[in-house]
Amino acid sequence: MSYQHQYQDGTTIHYPMGKVVCVGRNYAEHAKELGNEIPDEPLLFIKPGSCVDSAENGFNIPSDRGAVHFELEIAVLIGKPLSKKPCEEEVLDAISGYAPALDLTLRDVQDTLKKKGWPWEASKSFDGACVLAPFVSADNVSDTRAIELRLTVNGEVRQQGDSSQMINAIVPLISHIAGQFSLQPGDVVLTGTPAGVGPLQSGDQLVMELPGLIRYESFVR
Ligand code: ZN
Repeated sequence: MSYQHQYQDGTTIHYPMGKVVCVGRNYAEHAKELGNEIPDEPLLFIKPGSCVDSAENGFNIPSDRGAVHFELEIAVLIGKPLSKKPCEEEVLDAISGYAPALDLTLRDVQDTLKKKGWPWEASKSFDGACVLAPFVSADNVSDTRAIELRLTVNGEVRQQGDSSQMINAIVPLISHIAGQFSLQPGDVVLTGTPAGVGPLQSGDQLVMELPGLIRYESFVR
């Protein structure tokens, strides 16, 4: 698995694949569907860059550790260093692009970890646990609070939402993250998933969309 960031037109983005910073429970309806409280500050976790796969030519899922859930999310590509709680202008200036992404989750494993009060890595950081479509340049997005996302599985719309529904909006969220630890060019922020998450099976056909910006087809190998 050798992943390299790229834009929708096929241009390579010459940043190394860094870390993937994720936020849990950033859409109220999704927190509810898993029976979770809405956190009073962003619930952050990190997937290592090693788990990232491209959505091109399909992707693999683990077959021996229980249910593998899709979570469609808006991925934000960081293009400049950010640290020490940067202001909103600085954050906007550092965003290179947006893509539809899958935060794949071993849900049964995660439920066990949650019960034990343990960290989530075993459920969230396996090889292939983050699937990225190509990025749309940030120049194409005029309002970060109006980015739609939609996931279709085998012809059926399973997840749909937009960034106005986020509990922590994209720019303040990234400012908060960079107040906790540094972000580097090539890092990716996954901004949470709307309601509708569910299991994937081998052979499933997916359409990952940021409607109006990118529509990308993939499948489970
Ligand atoms: Zn997620």
